[in-house]
Amino acid sequence: STALVLFRRDLRLADNPALHAACAAHARVLPVYVHAPDEDAPWAPGAASRWWLHHALEALDRQLAEHGGRLHIVHGPTLQAVRALIAATGASAVYWNRRYEPAAIAHDSALKAALREDGVAVHSHPGPLWHEPWTLATDGGQPYRVFTPFWRKLRAQLPAPTPLPVARARQWLQADGGLPVAALGLLPAIRWDAGLAAQWTPGEAGAQELLEIFADAVNDYAKSRDLPARHGTSRLSPHLHFGEITPVQIHALLQQRAQQAGGRQRPDLEPYLRELGWREFAHHLLYHFPDTPQANFNPRFDAFPWAKDNPALLERWQRGRTGIPLVDAGMRELWHTGWMHNRVRMVVASFLTKNLRQHWQHGARWFWDTLVDADLANNTLGWQWVAGCGADAAPYFRVFNPYLQSAKFDPDAAYLKRWLPELAALPAKTLHEAWKHQSALAACGYPAPVVDMAASREAALAAWDALPAV
Ligand code: FAD
Repeated sequence: STALVLFRRDLRLADNPALHAACAAHARVLPVYVHAPDEDAPWAPGAASRWWLHHALEALDRQLAEHGGRLHIVHGPTLQAVRALIAATGASAVYWNRRYEPAAIAHDSALKAALREDGVAVHSHPGPLWHEPWTLATDGGQPYRVFTPFWRKLRAQLPAPTPLPVARARQWLQADGGLPVAALGLLPAIRWDAGLAAQWTPGEAGAQELLEIFADAVNDYAKSRDLPARHGTSRLSPHLHFGEITPVQIHALLQQRAQQAGGRQRPDLEPYLRELGWREFAHHLLYHFPDTPQANFNPRFDAFPWAKDNPALLERWQRGRTGIPLVDAGMRELWHTGWMHNRVRMVVASFLTKNLRQHWQHGARWFWDTLVDADLANNTLGWQWVAGCGADAAPYFRVFNPYLQSAKFDPDAAYLKRWLPELAALPAKTLHEAWKHQSALAACGYPAPVVDMAASREAALAAWDALPAV
């Protein structure tokens, strides 16, 4: 018999439950990618994600070719495309791994119902998470709203780190009419992507490479994860988003290395596993509170007096021209590489939502378009957490001070100088106390701050104080 496997956000051959099941149950398997970005509206992939997707699809196709298959690429709508492929191949079953965004859930449920009505068997399998977002609940049977008890529960029941092997079909089917990846038009017309290409290797092999590098550094994670100048974190976020690697695979390799190290050398994996736990929490929240990409998790913030939309100010933030070194360094890192260090994400988000009092959704949208790891669950949680309106959020009155943050986490200013080369000749202390040295920075062609930090902080706190309690 013949099966179709729909690849979506699981662009890998190893530890892939849908592919594995299809290969076990059917003689012939056709791997399919249906391109239908409209079906993700209003969160169709942004420009940086499209760049990643292009290269990840090419990588998957190359990998399948090594095993004698091809990725069959077609344009959507998905239902029409799948029906046409069923008619052309005589497939009796369709397999996929689940996605958890609200639009994806609605879409996949409708697809499943329509195909079943056609008499086709549909098998959906868990997506690249440790747990299905609906499986954990508080003792009172409610969704979690606080991370620590959520993590305690999940940590106690993490699945065994035993990933599935690379799936092999008895016969990889090939069908007529498939498109080359380039036909999807995912790459930018004006080629701004050189910085992305220099930094990343989309695809399963690229993910494994980064994991290998990180396995040697995991022991330092707790110490160096807050230092943006270093590669102290795994940088696996885009690979995780596109399902090129799973938490089970990561856990398995790190645990294996830890066991090999043994004794006193044995690294503590907990701080890193816990961070993957935040990703699970974000998906749990998005599943249970599907309107939160657009709405405040905490309704008290519905009355928050955001400043009037200010496109000019927003553009200064987007381009890394605010005159606040750590904010500008972060925004330029994002623009050039499609990624930003987590600590700096918190600082730039705090600056936008508190010092500039622009709505967090302006920031979330910009990140959506520019991050290669743009992920609806994690991005929503990140922005609502910093803005103070999210689940288990930083309290609103916590306003990050970018000067203190850079002095503490980038003491020799290596990160600042990397992304603000016009300031590279100035001493680190001058950069951490930039407000005292405006003329020195101006002489380097660096702009004056767009806002007075102390006054804007006070204004944000006053706005918060004036909010009615709910
Ligand atoms: P590591 O420190 O190596 O962590 C490993 C993995 O754990 C990450 O790849 C990620 O999948 C997960 N993770 C780590 N921290 C968090 C977190 N705070 N919340 C959820 N998952 C986490 N992450 C995204 O993947 N996509 C986004 O769109 C995104 N937007 C963000 C927006 C803001 C305003 C903030 C403050 C954070 C955002 N994050 C987002 C979370 C975090 O910054 C990134 O996951 C992290 O920087 C990725 O780098 P890494 O893979 O080296 O992380």
